[in-house]
Amino acid sequence: MSERAAPFHCPYCGDEDLRPHEAGHGAWECAACNRAFQLRFLGLLSRGISGGTDGRRNGGPDDPS
Ligand SMILES: [Zn+2]
Repeated sequence: MSERAAPFHCPYCGDEDLRPHEAGHGAWECAACNRAFQLRFLGLLSRGISGGTDGRRNGGPDDPS
């Protein structure tokens, strides 16, 4: 899924006129400012996904205590 990430705006000038760059996966070029850049998935954050699960931590059917 990381290869499918597509930017909506140029990170340099903010224009939306982006097209895939010939360099390959995750590479894009901006027609407005003539820059080429690359998006890369670095990994998941160590803090994980937050919110919404605390209510199910205690007292569940799988609780070993
Ligand atoms: Zn740009």
